[in-house]
Amino acid sequence: MTENTAFHVHIPQNMTVLLNLYNKAPRSLIMAGGTHLMNHTMKPDGEHHSILAVGQLDELKKISRTDRYIELGSCVTINEMIDAQLGVASPLLLDTMSHMGPYPIRNVSTIGGNLCIPEKRMDLFPVLLLMDARMELRHVKRKRNGRASYKSRWIHINSFLDAEGRPDLAEGEILSRIRIPFYDGSFHFHRKVNIQDNDFFTINALASLDKGVLSDVRVAFTNGGLFILRSRDMEANLMGRRFPLTRKELDEVMSGLSRYFSKPENPYEEYLMNSLFRQLLESLADPSDTGDFSLQ
Ligand SMILES: Cc1cc2nc3c(=O)[nH]c(=O)nc-3n(C[C@H](O)[C@H](O)[C@H](O)COP(=O)(O)OP(=O)(O)OC[C@H]3O[C@@H](n4cnc5c(N)ncnc54)[C@H](O)[C@@H]3O)c2cc1C
Repeated sequence: MTENTAFHVHIPQNMTVLLNLYNKAPRSLIMAGGTHLMNHTMKPDGEHHSILAVGQLDELKKISRTDRYIELGSCVTINEMIDAQLGVASPLLLDTMSHMGPYPIRNVSTIGGNLCIPEKRMDLFPVLLLMDARMELRHVKRKRNGRASYKSRWIHINSFLDAEGRPDLAEGEILSRIRIPFYDGSFHFHRKVNIQDNDFFTINALASLDKGVLSDVRVAFTNGGLFILRSRDMEANLMGRRFPLTRKELDEVMSGLSRYFSKPENPYEEYLMNSLFRQLLESLADPSDTGDFSLQ
């Protein structure tokens, strides 16, 4: 019979204590809402026996705003974000959050946990990528004389992932704040389709149209949370076009999709990519229509 080692749960009172504990035991697990960890990582015979429960840390629960951006502590929950009227700042973010899991899960799951899941990019990552979010990462460094030096660095969300697509956090480093600039474009588009089990294919887009002419467009696909696909060339190819597109233009844009993105291996995912992209183009022709949809 395997003997289980007890978990040690630490609830640090403030950031200084948290960073020092994590520095001393960098193999500890950071637990925010715990909705992902409880389902995936917390095996009784697993190797992680030290847990740093950060979900209630005041410094990680703050929300502040300026006229240019909103700043959220990493432990702000999804429902707190919805209640903070983030939709006024970003209907795309609000739309995305409203489709994330059941209400009780949204009550505890955090923005930081959503971004830091090692093996998959969840729903918020592509949206925050399109919104040019920045992230603050913090850790403590021990000097030779034993003194602590507290480090903070701000990075663009673009550089948060390593070559394998996993969060690029250094040893003992945590995500502390996320800064989301306001986007003043008039158009957003969010679709999420189940592929299998808990895997979804998504498309998210932000755009600005001036009298039907596209002056800005940002599009990201995610494929079962494993890939984030964004092509600046594809966006540049759409920019300056007048909507609705002519039939010829629509066919040309649709057939060009494979030039910018490699074809998904699974035919259903290829179908979803084409079908959702076509829906995006049709919605750009009628920007008031960003509501519910069905896939034929
Ligand atoms: C029933 C159900 C439905 C779900 N539906 C959705 C959905 O629709 N969309 C979706 O995107 N997700 C969904 N999820 C997945 C998950 O709940 C969310 O992604 C959630 O936001 C994770 O946040 P958390 O605070 O619970 O993370 P946790 O489980 O606490 O942590 C997740 C990971 O991030 C790390 N971590 C957490 N905070 C930090 C930090 N500040 N710094 C460094 N590392 C950190 C943890 O160590 C862990 O590896 C669902 C989960 C369940 C159980």
